[in-house]
Parts: sequence; C-alpha cells; structure tokens
Amino acid sequence: MAAHRVIILGGGFGGLYAARALRKAPVEVTLLDRRNFHLFQPLLYQVATGSLSPGDVCAPLRSILRRQKNTRVLLGEVSDLDPRTRKVILHDGASFDYDSLIVATGSESFYFGNDQWRVFAPSLKSVEEATAIRHKILYAFEAAERTTDVDERRAWLTFVVVGAGPTGVELSGALGEIARQTLKHDFRAIDPTEARILLLDGAPRVLMTFPEDLSAHAERSLVGLGVRTCTGVLVTEIDPQGVSFREHGGAVERQAARTVLWAGGVHVAGFGRILAQRTGAQTDPSGRLLVNPDLTLPGYPEIYVVGDLAKFAGPDGRPLPGVAQVAMQGGAYAARGILAHLEGHQNRRPFHYIDKGDLAVIGRASAVARIFGVRLHGLIAWLVWLFVHIMYLVQFENRVLVFIQWGFLYLTFSRGARLITGSPSNGAVPNREGPFETIGHEGPS
Ligand SMILES: Cc1cc2nc3c(=O)[nH]c(=O)nc-3n(C[C@H](O)[C@H](O)[C@H](O)COP(=O)(O)OP(=O)(O)OC[C@H]3O[C@@H](n4cnc5c(N)ncnc54)[C@H](O)[C@@H]3O)c2cc1C
Repeated sequence: MAAHRVIILGGGFGGLYAARALRKAPVEVTLLDRRNFHLFQPLLYQVATGSLSPGDVCAPLRSILRRQKNTRVLLGEVSDLDPRTRKVILHDGASFDYDSLIVATGSESFYFGNDQWRVFAPSLKSVEEATAIRHKILYAFEAAERTTDVDERRAWLTFVVVGAGPTGVELSGALGEIARQTLKHDFRAIDPTEARILLLDGAPRVLMTFPEDLSAHAERSLVGLGVRTCTGVLVTEIDPQGVSFREHGGAVERQAARTVLWAGGVHVAGFGRILAQRTGAQTDPSGRLLVNPDLTLPGYPEIYVVGDLAKFAGPDGRPLPGVAQVAMQGGAYAARGILAHLEGHQNRRPFHYIDKGDLAVIGRASAVARIFGVRLHGLIAWLVWLFVHIMYLVQFENRVLVFIQWGFLYLTFSRGARLITGSPSNGAVPNREGPFETIGHEGPS
C-alpha cells in the first residue's frame, strides 16, 4: 500500500517541528518552503543591528532534515490549493497531492493599511529586511559624519522605532547601545552618543503583553540607554524626512528622522488568505484562520493550520500569541494527530498549549522575563534569554558560533557584522523575492 503523503507548507518553527515529529513515522513527508533555510526570527534584530551575520540565524532546511529518510525538502512558493482533490499548487504551476496537509506559512508585517510606509520604514521579518535595516542604521551615522548642515545632521542622528512590543524594544535598546557604546570613538565630526532614539506605540506602556512591573523595568532600562519612549500615540504619517504622530485626540507632532523602523505588528496575507478562501474558513481581523480544538480546519479533518497562521483560544479564552513556542507545540501536535488518525484513534485530546513564558532583551546584560509565572529582570533574565535562544537555535554549529560571538560582544561592546551592503545610499529596501531595489533618496548634502 502506498505510504500516507504528508505535505508541510513552511519550514519555520511550526513546519520544522511538525516534520521532526514525523521522523520515525511510516509516512512520506514533503516539506515545501519558498526559502531553502529555516530562519530563527527571534535573533533577527541582532542581524539588523550588526551583532550577528545572516548565516548565524539561518540553517538550510535540507541540512537540518538530511538524516530524516522519510522526508524530502522542496523549494517552491505555494500559491493555491484545491482542498477537494487534495492538491497544493505552486507559483510555477507544479502541483503536489497530499493525504494530510500541515500549513505553517506564518505571518507578514502589517502597516495597518498604510503599505506606502513600507519603503520608508522597513520592518523586521526576513533576512533581507534585517540587512536593509542594518544598512539604514549604519548609513545614517556615515551621512551624519559627512554633512555640515546642523539640521540635516540632527535628522540623520534621529532614529524612530514604531511599535514597543518585544521587537521594537529590542531594536531600540540595541540602537542605544550602538550609539552610546559601539560607535562612541569611531567618528570625528559627530558624537554618536548624541543620537536620539524614539520608541513610539499606541498602547499605554511598552511590552503590553508583559506584567506591568516588567514593562516598567524595561522602560527604565531603555531610558538608561538613551531611548525616549512615547506611548499612547498614533502614527499618522511616515515619509523619507520623518514621522508624524499624535496623542489620542491631541495635536500632530512632527519628528524629523532619516531612519524610521517598523515593529508595529503582523497579519496573515499571501497563502493564508487563499487557504481561507478555498476552505471557507473564518478569519479574525488580522487574517488568522479559526481552527478546531485539534488545529484542523472546520470541514477538513486532513488540513491542520499551526503557528502564526492559526487563531486558537488558550485556557483563559484569549487567543494564543504569535510566538515560536505556540508554533513549535502546534506543529508537533499536528504531526501526532496525523499518526493517531493513521492508527485509527478517534476523539483526540484538544491542543493544549504549555505557556513557558515571555522574554524580551533590552541590551547587554539587561532583559525582562516571565518564566513559568516567575518574573525576572536584569542580568538573570538576560542569562535566561541567552540560554533559551542558544538552546533553540537549530544547528549545533550555529549554537557554538553564536555563543562565541556573544561572549566576544559582551566583553568588548563590539558588533562584528557592521557592514553596509547593497547600494551605497540610504533607504535600500528588499524586494520580497530578491536582493535590493533602491528607493530614490539622496545622500548627505
Ligand atoms: C523580529 C522577530 C522577533 C521575534 N522574536 C520572538 C521571540 O523572541 N520569541 C518568540 O517566541 N517568538 C518571536 N517571534 C515570533 C516567532 O518568530 C513566530 O511566532 C514564529 O516564527 C511563527 O512560526 P510559524 O511556523 O507560524 O511561521 P514562520 O516561522 O514565520 O515560518 C513560515 C515559513 O513559511 C514559509 N512560507 C511562507 N509563505 C510561503 C509560501 N506561500 N510558500 C512556501 N513557503 C512559504 C516562509 O518562508 C517561512 O519559512 C519573533 C518574530 C519576529 C519577526
């Protein structure tokens, strides 16, 4: 009898953990991804701020799964699906039949309907975006060094981060360290420590998903790194010259800034939308698909949806957050569900998420953490963060390399991957598919 065909769409946290959970199963697994690598998104901000190189946070999917004999990895972008004939269709027209499908294609950055801001304020979701942000940050200091115009220099030395969740906090904290420590002695005309960093968010405090006391710790640490937090504000405009925002109901404030970075949120687009259309699945306002308690789509017991793509309520009735643990646990649960089905078991126990906690790093030896309900901050939280991130890096070589680099960084304050790559002008933004297209934006006068 032909083996049961499992197709996994996406080799991120959800897809990879699903594939691994099927390693000994009597099934034929195909993992499809539009990239040939797994990206460890939690360390992307380290690439964006020059601490790590892209290769440190990525691992080729083919090599991760090379010993898993029942699994093949294929490169391709999924563009459509026929759930009736159980077929996924790729962008290039190829199609693949499945008996069970696990969809883990993740989420994308969301600009709240202002997609025109994307070119001026890159977000942090892919390796290309991380290197574009690194380019933007480092280029700003170079441009400030060359210009003799005071206002222009001020604008180049002003950095705005929109969104004060973990990514925004991590980015702005790292910016503070770059300005105050890493680059302190590197320039002649400018004093990098005069750089201004502004962190904006519509919520009343930074790290809204963390307990209030940890938010307060994070805010104090940010202030110590020279970051000005501005919460309860709404961004109304972003253009090449800066950002406009206002307090709810208040007057619009304008901040000239040549570097604006977006950490404002994510939503489901791309294949996730097609999947919802083809299966008639309900979606929430951010496009996540509502799933059954066993993570399958209503009416399609053979289609599992996991990770950022799925909307699933936790024990408190609130939707599970878009974090790596939810995706990993969901992926492994879906794989076990397929096996249980093959073994003839019915009525599986619903998916139960084990919340191990939240972590956000603010800077060198500074983090906040909620681990199994215990609240930590400062050095101890940072050590936990270090341990957890190294543990979960998928390949041993990455773990060793990253650990050595962090040790070096910790002792020297340096950032070894401080490279300006791509076009030698500001504002290089990645194409979704390829390297860079440069937006028309002048260098220093
Ligand atoms: C900057 C940043 C920092 C983060 N920090 C943390 C953190 O500290 N802790 C934490 O727990 N979580 C963190 N997260 C969130 C976490 O990374 C996500 O929740 C997690 O990656 C979701 O896993 P996933 O498998 O659903 O999707 P992803 O990991 O995003 O994987 C989706 C995969 O699908 C592929 N794909 C997408 N569309 C297609 C298509 N049409 N065809 C083929 N392949 C496709 C993509 O190439 C990708 O490999 C962070 C996220 C970001 C962006």
